[in-house]
Amino acid sequence: MNSTALYDSTTQLNWAEQKWEQMYEGRNPLLVTGIFAFLMHEFVYFGRFIPFLICDYIPYFKKYKLQEAKANTTDDYWNCTKKVLYAHFVFEGPLIFLFHPMATMLGMKVAAPFPAWQQMLPQIAIFFIFEDFYHYHMHRFMHWPPFYKKVHKVHHEYAAPFGIAAEYAHPIETMILGFGTVCGPLIYHAVANYFDFGAEWDLHLITMLSWIVLRLFQAIDAHSGYDFPWSLHNWVPFWAGAEHHDYHHQAFVGNYSSSFRWWDYLFGTDKKYRAYRQRQRLERLKVKTK
Ligand SMILES: [Zn+2]
Ligand SMILES: [Zn+2]
Repeated sequence: MNSTALYDSTTQLNWAEQKWEQMYEGRNPLLVTGIFAFLMHEFVYFGRFIPFLICDYIPYFKKYKLQEAKANTTDDYWNCTKKVLYAHFVFEGPLIFLFHPMATMLGMKVAAPFPAWQQMLPQIAIFFIFEDFYHYHMHRFMHWPPFYKKVHKVHHEYAAPFGIAAEYAHPIETMILGFGTVCGPLIYHAVANYFDFGAEWDLHLITMLSWIVLRLFQAIDAHSGYDFPWSLHNWVPFWAGAEHHDYHHQAFVGNYSSSFRWWDYLFGTDKKYRAYRQRQRLERLKVKTK
């Protein structure tokens, strides 16, 4: 990509698009995308955890904890932060820098203007559906005892998870599951290009980054350990959320998907979870009627 002439100068750019262009102007695009994506990842990952951390210190929110009896300590948070930061700098960081060459090799757009939200939305929906399907099967495979003992056990260290435990995993797991997040969009782009779907199907780097932000939100929420009345799954019944994934950490089995509930329901891997929640509901009802 030519970093000095990124866009058609006749196009009117908005404030964000102008900033985007200035960021790349006269700089090595590989480094710009790499540093921007890395910082964005750190900022979103730890930033999204802060509201949950605050809730831990406010007694009112305790009733929304999924595993109320198991309180995580500041030591747990601190140890997890150190391990996650190490993984981000040593394993994920270098991989993030490979993204720009891969994306541009496939012809992904980087220059402003950004695509319209009507173009971004269906693409991001496709990435969510692809990642969830891939995640379900790979995660289920990771519970195969030999693989679990050597690799996936690391992620299960916290039976009552919290937001920043989302990416606490063996590097092999990070690579395997990261494929669903990063390579889904790349495959989409390659397919759209190969079949020449048209310009409105082209993938822009900003769509890819928006998808990564939403996927981070999903992963941190799913590990938050909280089920609030305003949590997404209470409004969108097929959304998995913490209420679904927390059980996976608690029981070490079932509920293998990431974003949606349908694969676990279809393959019957959520039977124990549904029976458990039903028992909880009946117990709560008994307490209320006493
Ligand atoms: Zn698991
Ligand atoms: Zn997990």
